[in-house]
This record gives sequence, C-alpha cells and structure tokens, in this order.
Amino acid sequence: MQQVAGKSGAVLRIDLQAVRGNYRLLRSKLGTAHCGAAVKADAYGLGAVPVAQVLYDEGCRHFFVAHLEEAISLRPHLPDAAQIIVMHGSPVGYEAEFLEHRCMPVLNSREQILAWRKLAAQKQTALPAIIQFDTGMARMGLSAAEVEQWRADPDFIQGIAVRYAMSHLACAEDQSNPMNRQQLQRFQQVRQLLPAAGGSLANSSGIFLGPDFHFDLARPGAALYGIAPVAGQENPLFPVAHLQGRIIQTREISAGATVGYGATWQASETTRIATVAVGYADGWLRSLSNRGIAQIAGRDVPMVGKVSMDTITLDVTQIASEHLQPGALVDLISATNTVDAVAGKASTIAYEILTSLGARYQREYTDRKPDGKPDGKQ
Ligand SMILES: *Cc1c(COP(=O)(O)O)cnc(C)c1O
Repeated sequence: MQQVAGKSGAVLRIDLQAVRGNYRLLRSKLGTAHCGAAVKADAYGLGAVPVAQVLYDEGCRHFFVAHLEEAISLRPHLPDAAQIIVMHGSPVGYEAEFLEHRCMPVLNSREQILAWRKLAAQKQTALPAIIQFDTGMARMGLSAAEVEQWRADPDFIQGIAVRYAMSHLACAEDQSNPMNRQQLQRFQQVRQLLPAAGGSLANSSGIFLGPDFHFDLARPGAALYGIAPVAGQENPLFPVAHLQGRIIQTREISAGATVGYGATWQASETTRIATVAVGYADGWLRSLSNRGIAQIAGRDVPMVGKVSMDTITLDVTQIASEHLQPGALVDLISATNTVDAVAGKASTIAYEILTSLGARYQREYTDRKPDGKPDGKQ
C-alpha cells in the first residue's frame, strides 16, 4: 500500500484517459450519430471543466447540463464551437441570458416555448433550441395534450430554429423492458411534427439498445464515467473514479467489544480495527454501515460498525501491520471494487455514489493524449 503524506482524508483520482476511452467506445457504437455528453452535476461529481475539456479534445461538441447556472459556469472553459445545452430550459424570465452566455435551452413545456418565441420576436431572429417530448417519463417535455394543441396551431414554434427533437428513456438499462420500444414508437410519432430537426433519444444505456435508438445525437453521462450501462451484463467501459481513504489509527479490541455509534458491530474474537478518514459527509453513504468493503494490499476487508460523519472503521485483523501505518491509503473505489459494486452494497445506483463524492477529497486528474504522451493539461 502506497504511503502518501497528505493533509486530506482521502485521495480521489480521476482518470481522464479512461473518460477519453469511454467516449471513443460510445462513439464507435453510434456510427454516424453525434455523441454528446451529459456533464450536469459537475460531470457526476468528477469535475465538469476537466471532463468537458478532454471530451472536446476527443471531438464532442454537445454538452448537456441541467441548470442555466451550470451552463454559465462552464461556458468560459470551452471553445465557441461547443454547444452547451440546458436540459431544464430557461427559468421564467431568464431567457435573454441564454443569448448572453451562448447556450441553448431544451424547451420542455408550452410556457417555455412561448417565452422563447417571444424573445425571438423581440430580437427579430430565429433562435435555436431543442424541444423535448414526454414519451413516458412524465417528468419533462411536452405532454400528449400539448402536442395535440401544437397540431392545431401552425404558428406554435414560429421563430424557433429547432435543432433536435428530444425525449428520455425510463428503462433503458433493462434491455428486455417493453417500455423501451413503446417510448421509441411514441418518439417516432411526435418527431413528425419536426421533419427538419434531428432526433435525440439515447442516454448511455440507450446507446446499447441498438441503432434504432441512436437517431442523430446521443446524450451519455454515466457510461463516460465508467458506470455499467446494461443491467446484468459485463461492463465494457473503463473505470474513471478511484478513491483511497487514509488510515488515521489502528487498535486491537477484545472479544465482546463493540465498534461505532449504536454499538452495532461486536467482535467475536480479538480484532484489529483501522479507522479511515472518510465518512458520510464525504458521500460515503451511511447505508454502507456493516456492509461495505475496502481493499488493502489487494485484499478485501469488511467495514464494521456504522459509517460516521468523518470516519469508517475496518476489520483489518488479516492484514500485515506494514500496510496499516497512519497515513497509509486503503482502496475504497477501485477497478475491482467498482462504483457499481459499491452502489449495490449501499442499495443505490452508481450515479448516486459518484454525485455524492466528497468536496473534502484531494482530487488528482491523470490524462494522456491519444498519442501516448502525457497531456500536461493535468
Ligand atoms: C442525465 C440525463 C442524461 C444522461 O443519462 P445517463 O444515464 O447518465 O447516460 C441524458 N438525458 C437526460 C434528459 C438526462 O437527464
């Protein structure tokens, strides 16, 4: 185990070369369709700026965020040729900021369409946008009723240059779910309203549903960050996030002694406990209490006791003391204990593990240009 002197409780290494590799793999599956990238929520906690910059370098030109505020923060870090697309659309009254910050809204409702149309009329120019249709998520996008109203109103999108018709799949990671085909059919129907616009349906898992789902622009997020796209199948993507926590101290406890809040774990024999400086305040979810594992010198060790705010405790009885010195790092997310595996133990999805990753971690970015030379961009 590597011994690194450091002031932080944990080191989060983000492998940008793996992000590049994942982007290439997704693009190769997409054929002629464009491969965009969901970089919302700070690129799922991994850093929107460094991630978007390597993706731009790989040829990505469509970057999806949720909020206008995220787009405004990202805009100065990407060249003009990058489109930054705000999936929530404009908050009421903020339409003009999209022009000021050169980003594009997804229009999700009649209200958002009318507001965008009004701005286009004021500016006396066609304004680009994406229009989202609800095909089964019941979350965002025009409803079937709004689509009917549109059919009756030929001026509905006057002044709006619709680049893509968009919708979002509810069950894409479950390839046998009939909902996927149903949503595809609905999407094909509503797209007839916009014969000149491209189509955008697939998230990460949608790309793996096959070419029928690709249309003109995909919007993967999770797969870029190494999350498994297909339930029950081997993950073809490279792991991106590697988390190591630092040992603060170790102790030996006797049979019968308990560990942590609530005394939920009791030693049945003499046990060596290591305390590691990562807790639920760092996004190491409390649901991992008495369930998660860490790895030391390649061996799995169980987490025992409740996750505290700043610490976890491990049963390291089987580990040689040379690996247990204060300051030593233990693996919490690795190529063999993946974000998906951690999520399984925490009864959640890998998306939540990544987006919860702590602000207190020391973050290290590694990258190599495709020619194999270190990038230096860090
Ligand atoms: C988050 C999101 C995506 C990306 O989804 P992944 O499953 O992470 O690939 C794509 N489209 C929409 C509308 C989203 O909200």
